[in-house]
Amino acid sequence: MPGFEIFGEEEKKEIMDVLDTGVLFRYEFNEQRKNVFKVREFEEKFARYCGANQAQAVTSGTAALKVALTALGIGPGDEVITQGFTFVATWEAILEVGALPVFTEVDATLNMDPEDLKKKITSKTKCIIPVHMLGAQARIEEITAIAKQHGLEVIEDTAQAAGGRIKGQHLGTFGTCGTFSFDAVKTITTGEGGMIITDDVALWRAMSEYHDHGHDHKVNPGARGGEGRRFVGSNYRMMELQGAIGLAQLAKLDGIVAAQQKNKAILMHAAAGIPGVVFRELVDADGDSATFLSFTLQDREHCQRVNASLRKSGHGAINFAENSWHFYPKWEHLLGGKTLTKSGYPFSEPYGKRRIVYDPQFLPQSAALLERTLVYPVAIKMSDERLSGMCGALKDAQKV
Ligand SMILES: *Cc1c(COP(=O)(O)O)cnc(C)c1O
Repeated sequence: MPGFEIFGEEEKKEIMDVLDTGVLFRYEFNEQRKNVFKVREFEEKFARYCGANQAQAVTSGTAALKVALTALGIGPGDEVITQGFTFVATWEAILEVGALPVFTEVDATLNMDPEDLKKKITSKTKCIIPVHMLGAQARIEEITAIAKQHGLEVIEDTAQAAGGRIKGQHLGTFGTCGTFSFDAVKTITTGEGGMIITDDVALWRAMSEYHDHGHDHKVNPGARGGEGRRFVGSNYRMMELQGAIGLAQLAKLDGIVAAQQKNKAILMHAAAGIPGVVFRELVDADGDSATFLSFTLQDREHCQRVNASLRKSGHGAINFAENSWHFYPKWEHLLGGKTLTKSGYPFSEPYGKRRIVYDPQFLPQSAALLERTLVYPVAIKMSDERLSGMCGALKDAQKV
C-alpha cells in the first residue's frame, strides 16, 4: 500500500542534492541552486509518467483539489458532485471554495454510480469529482461522457490510485484534470504533498499562478518571471525536499504496483473460497493499482461473522460502513453542519439561513453495499508468513 514501506537510499540521495545547495525553495535563488530544481523535475516526470501535458505540485491532495476547483472558477452558488464513499478531504475542498458538495451512490465498483450521477445534476452543478477509491478505477469514461452532455468539468480525485490505469491510460488523464496526494499512507509519499495533472495549458498556468500568490508565470512557464498579477492567489507551494523525495518514489511506482498485484492475487485466491463472495467490480483488472482487496458477502450478518472469524485469527478486515472517515452517514460533523465559523457558514448563509441539510439516509444503495463489504489493505512488502497467515484466516472464514 504505502510508499513509506520502501523509503531508502534513493530518497536520501535526492534529498542530499537539495541539502548540498541549501536551497529549500522551488523558485528563485538561481545562483546558489546549481541548477537543482527538484519540484519542477518531479512535475515534469510525473506528467510524463501519467501521459499528461502538464503537472502542478502543491502541498497536499486536499490543496490539489482546492487549487483545481479555484482555477476552474468554481465558488459560492455552485454545486459540485462527488461520491458518498470517499475520504473527507474531497468534500472539504468543495466547501473550502464556497461551493456545495452533493453526493452520489457508489455501485459495484465502489465508486461513483453514473446512473445516480445523472439524477443529481441540477442547473447549479458545475463540476463532478469522481474518486478512484481504494486504488481502483471509477467508471470514468461513462462519467466524462455524462459531464460532456451537460457541459460540466471533471476533476478526478486520484489521491488513492497513483499507478492505476484503464487500457493503459493513466487515471487522472480522463477528466479536465486529475489530483493526487502524497501523504503518509498513499502509494507514493513525499511526507505531505499533492499534484494536479492536466492537458489544458491555460488551466495549468492559472493553477501555477494561484498556488504562488498570483505571481505572473507567463514569461517563464512553471517558474516566476514577470511582475504582473492577474488575480489574487494563495500559497500552496511544495518544498524542494518534497520534490526530491517524490522523484525517488515515482521511480519506484511501477515496482510498487507490480508487488501489490502479486500479493493481492494470492489473497484473492484465498478469499475466493468464502461462500457467496463477490469481488469488487474492476473497470480494468490489469490497470488496478492493487492497493486494496475488496469483496462483498451475502449479507450484513454473514459479513460480520466472517470478519469476527478473521479477527479471531488476528487478521480482521476493514468494514467501511463502520468507518467514520470515509462514508457519508458517519460524517456527523458534515451532517450536523458543524463549523468553526460563528455565522454557520458554509452550512448557513451569513445571516443564518440554512443553505443545505444533509440527510443521513440519503444513500441507501451505498449503505446496503458497504455494510456487507470487507477490505484489506495490500502492502508492498508481505512476508510469506504474513501472507500465509492471512490466507489461513480466509480459509477458516469459509466455514462460518
Ligand atoms: C488522501 C486523500 C485526499 C487528500 O490528500 P491529503 O494529501 O491528505 O490532503 C483526497 N482524496 C482522497 C480520496 C484521499 O484518499
